[in-house]
Amino acid sequence: MKPETLAIHASNLVKSATGDVTPPISLSTTFFRDEEGGYPGGHMYSRVSNPNRSALENTLAQLEYGEDAAAFSSGNTAGMSLFQALKAGSHIIAPDDMYWGFKKQLLTIFEGILTFDFIDQTDLNLVKASIKPNTRLIWTETPSNPLLKVTDIEAIATIAKANQITMACDSTFASPILQNPIRLGADLVMHSSTKYLGGHSDILGGILVTAKKDELWERIKNVQQTGGAVPSPFDCYLLTRSIKTLAYRMKGHCENGKKVAEYLNEHPQVEAVFYPGLESHPQHEIAKKQMKDFGGMMSFLVKGDVESARKAVNKVKLFAQATSLGGVESLIEHRFSVEGPDSKTPKNLLRISVGLEHVDDIIADLAQALAFS
Ligand SMILES: *Cc1c(COP(=O)(O)O)cnc(C)c1O
Repeated sequence: MKPETLAIHASNLVKSATGDVTPPISLSTTFFRDEEGGYPGGHMYSRVSNPNRSALENTLAQLEYGEDAAAFSSGNTAGMSLFQALKAGSHIIAPDDMYWGFKKQLLTIFEGILTFDFIDQTDLNLVKASIKPNTRLIWTETPSNPLLKVTDIEAIATIAKANQITMACDSTFASPILQNPIRLGADLVMHSSTKYLGGHSDILGGILVTAKKDELWERIKNVQQTGGAVPSPFDCYLLTRSIKTLAYRMKGHCENGKKVAEYLNEHPQVEAVFYPGLESHPQHEIAKKQMKDFGGMMSFLVKGDVESARKAVNKVKLFAQATSLGGVESLIEHRFSVEGPDSKTPKNLLRISVGLEHVDDIIADLAQALAFS
């Protein structure tokens, strides 16, 4: 079935005794055993699994063309469970433009446990040259945060396979509707479900989907089920509800995103726009090859220094000046001041998450915010 259909039906795993068309929220933490000691309902204890989480995991596994999925209490924990599942001493090849929270995890939590290099993964020769005998994971992020760099998933998966290295892709900016890394050869896909999957800025969560239930996946499931950083049944219910409209929300984000990127690209106060849908984007051809459309995320440089960027971001009226992305409401953020003084993000960069308001209202707000006297 097609994603629009799966998004609506893949979470309806069990027919409820009371005939609910929408599955109920199962709050019970524990489940009956039968006389043989089995679990007739398929669940034992809700840290290990529960009906709402299984429904969510089944939906994501299907939307991402994987064999299995694991849901976590945040995107950060989803990524961390993979890092935790690696053996101590493993080397990771990570992108230089890696989501800030993951870079921070590697540099602080995994310091002395794992080793890593942060490199420009748009340079495939550099990816190959960075492989060491103990490299176990190539982590990619595309489109990347906050520079919207696009890495060639298929090319990197081919390099990873040839060297028996696991390849994972943080596909948060694309959502399962616009890009399916497993179909391009990736072993694992990660999403912060706080973003497009949730879509309403009211659920924190993360997802990993695996192409195969291999030994590494067993280790990841062990981190999930024994560690227990899992979403509550209510969060899982909310998320499966949100995902039902994901395909249609993405259509709106893409349509608005394209118009906003074109508007900013022509604006005299804008130095550069980073949006994979623009022909001027350095990896536009790769984006066209591996994405169905280009989403609602972009960033741009305001002409002038950090003060011009601050002025613009403080003038918005419709946009919320706030971090995060992927919600129905448009958000804008001065990224450097969120990431802190060690960040390499340009100081005059603003990142925007184009929402589902009417595009004329979104553009009008940017127009007045960028009109400096
Ligand atoms: C938000 C985000 C994360 C982290 O997810 P949380 O749900 O905030 O923990 C990871 N990667 C990307 C690209 C993100 O945007």
